[in-house]
Amino acid sequence: MTIKKLAELYRNKKISVVESITGFYNRIKEKDGSIHAFLSLNEAEALRQAKSIDRRIAEGEDLSILAGIPLAIKDNICQEGTKTTCASRILESFTSPYDATVITRLREKDAVFLGKTNLDEFAFGSSTENSAFGTTRNPANPDYVPGGSSGGSAAAVAADFACAALGSDTGGSIRQPASFCGVVGLKPTYGRVSRYGLVAFASSLDQIGPFAGTVEDAAIILKEIAGFDPADSTCVEIPVPDYPALLSGPVSGLKVGLPREYFGEGLENDVAGKIDEVIKMAEKLGLKIREISLPHTTYAIAVYYILATAEASANLARFDGVRYGRRKAGARTMRQLYEESRDEGFGRETKRRIILGTFVLSSGYYEAYYRKAQKVRTLVRRDFEAAFKEVDLILTPTSPTPPFKIGEKVIDPLQMYLSDIFTVSANLAGIPGLNLPVGCVRDNLPVGLQILGPAFAEERVLCLAHHLEKELGLS
Ligand code: GLN
Repeated sequence: MTIKKLAELYRNKKISVVESITGFYNRIKEKDGSIHAFLSLNEAEALRQAKSIDRRIAEGEDLSILAGIPLAIKDNICQEGTKTTCASRILESFTSPYDATVITRLREKDAVFLGKTNLDEFAFGSSTENSAFGTTRNPANPDYVPGGSSGGSAAAVAADFACAALGSDTGGSIRQPASFCGVVGLKPTYGRVSRYGLVAFASSLDQIGPFAGTVEDAAIILKEIAGFDPADSTCVEIPVPDYPALLSGPVSGLKVGLPREYFGEGLENDVAGKIDEVIKMAEKLGLKIREISLPHTTYAIAVYYILATAEASANLARFDGVRYGRRKAGARTMRQLYEESRDEGFGRETKRRIILGTFVLSSGYYEAYYRKAQKVRTLVRRDFEAAFKEVDLILTPTSPTPPFKIGEKVIDPLQMYLSDIFTVSANLAGIPGLNLPVGCVRDNLPVGLQILGPAFAEERVLCLAHHLEKELGLS
């Protein structure tokens, strides 16, 4: 069910908001037992809100297109009065004291928040298997992972538990699960959307963005959540385009680059085949396609995992059982209290990240790892700046493989890290990236195309995605 269609049903009084929201909860209760997209539901509040929206519709009030639209929210985004656990034991009983800016903005448009979705603990992972509260399954095929870290949000949209969802993307956590679950997912430009109220992972990389069933729905959500916010100093004060209105603009003549580094070793044949089909289709739309090079791509994973873990180790210092987080009872010294609270509260991957991040920041290693990674990050960013002088957009696969099986990679962190190979560079460069589902391969496993654009060119990314989606017959 798309936002567009549901809003129309409300407007024509074919269904009330209460009926619709009740229907979504019934579906979740019937089916989420086997998928586990949600960590908590917000039913009483959502129904109260639905009733009041119905009353306002009956009184003839002209409401936003988002009024009464059910959304799912990743459980690292604060929504006042709901738990925000980050899928970590250490925050198991933490209740958000305030709304994130994205929630405030969607609330003003009367969107309905159904519940909070599962993720890898603190968003560390690519499969949602690192959640302290159980794995989410891929609705397309339950033996497979939904991707991560926003696996719960992607699965919620794919399973029709909500019209759209919010996730966060530090190294691919919106685009990769969108690809694995066969939905649209957009990571906006760094600075486009406020992160106030998002639990920080790596502050120089984190962005919040939408998941949706169609490109148009993603554009509708982005329009509402984007824009300046004095509460996030990285949020940029430039006007927000009317994304949905710009979707059907012309694409013929656009110059599109295919980076050779993304089409070589490691790319699975099945995925390559699907992406080739879409590229042929893009040519028919009049796009001018050519090969380009992003020469520092090979360093992107190493750079990302140095910088992301360094920033994470600093950001997670606040979870100490004193300022934030569950406190271990019975500790006798300060040191014991920190050690035991953190040992008990954090899972394996979180500990690994804190240890790696602390290591690369420690004196003696800082120059060799952290400082060097910062320099190479600049080179990665310059690769994109140079490329966008030649082309308007870049197309790549979102992930080198279709979804993998539950349990297949979780024991091998390096294999897991390598699954982010096509997504981390956009975060390092701060540019927008969108996953467009382009069909399935064996075992009903979805494949996604990644569309990358220059900073603050979301409308161009969305416009091409919308045209390709139509061409693919997906909307
Ligand atoms: N999979 C990447 C990681 O594990 C990205 C996660 C994210 O974007 N939050 O760090």
